[in-house]
Amino acid sequence: MQVLLDKIVEDSKKLTAKGKVASYIPELSKADASHVGIAIVQTNGKIRCAGDYMTKFTIQSVSKPIVLLQALMDNGEEEVFSRVGMEPTGDPFNSIIRLETFDGSKPLNPMINAGAIAVSSLIKGKDNAERFDRMMTLFKQLSNNPDLTVNEDVFMSEKLTGDRNRAMGYFMKDLGSIRGNVEEVLDLYFRQCSIEVNCMDIANIGAFFANHGRDLVTGEQIVPVRYMNIVKTVMMTCGMYDASGEFAVNVGVPAKSGVGGGIMCAVPNRMGIGTFGPSLDKKGNSIAGLNVLSELSKELQLSIF
Ligand code: GLU
Repeated sequence: MQVLLDKIVEDSKKLTAKGKVASYIPELSKADASHVGIAIVQTNGKIRCAGDYMTKFTIQSVSKPIVLLQALMDNGEEEVFSRVGMEPTGDPFNSIIRLETFDGSKPLNPMINAGAIAVSSLIKGKDNAERFDRMMTLFKQLSNNPDLTVNEDVFMSEKLTGDRNRAMGYFMKDLGSIRGNVEEVLDLYFRQCSIEVNCMDIANIGAFFANHGRDLVTGEQIVPVRYMNIVKTVMMTCGMYDASGEFAVNVGVPAKSGVGGGIMCAVPNRMGIGTFGPSLDKKGNSIAGLNVLSELSKELQLSIF
């Protein structure tokens, strides 16, 4: 297994020259495009790693499934899906166009920016600090890492330049998908995206999904199975931007990608996988990460289909 992982990482490194690191958030452009790493956490506790698996990066959109779990636990399924849909878009992750045209006047799904901003507005707490603390507690628990922190430089960079997200926030307030103070909701959203992780952290989160919401060590059911199933299904259909269909064919497991270069996967009953490679393709997915995962899926027959 180790030999296989080392080889897949080495082969995938060659592809990194074909993509670009995200630069629309200025701070992200500092990443080293040649980095590639993977961590696997099996539901039986075994761990495997290769490449730059300890390198830190910001979680970005890989945060979306976790915040959706929190929103479901805080509000229940009916309330959450009255504010956000569950249909794939086929549009880029930061697209604004369907906010006005989609029937129901709500963002299409919780894995695109608009939907995730609406979901962030549902997190309970007396103020923004408490809302973020509650979110962060869940991130720490699922990643099995009590030391997770926010990269304040990335947070400020997003806050200062995130005008498209800001536009969507105000538009959704007008639609009624968001209640409350838009700037506070955006701060919460930018903060969740700026949490710093490595491959191990997101592999642990993937393993939690693979284990249907039970703690890997204690067996405690931390999130109801129904909510886990909802979020995994939304990851499967919408988690890899407008390449979710292709990913379902080539890899075949629920996954979520982020523009920081991370991909988190859950292989039900078997393992969580975290990959990192900040060189992205045109749709925003890590080029090396996609290659690592499709090779691994072939070798280990990971597809759920
Ligand atoms: N913070 C990023 C944004 O809002 C997340 C995008 C992503 O990772 O897909 O644009």
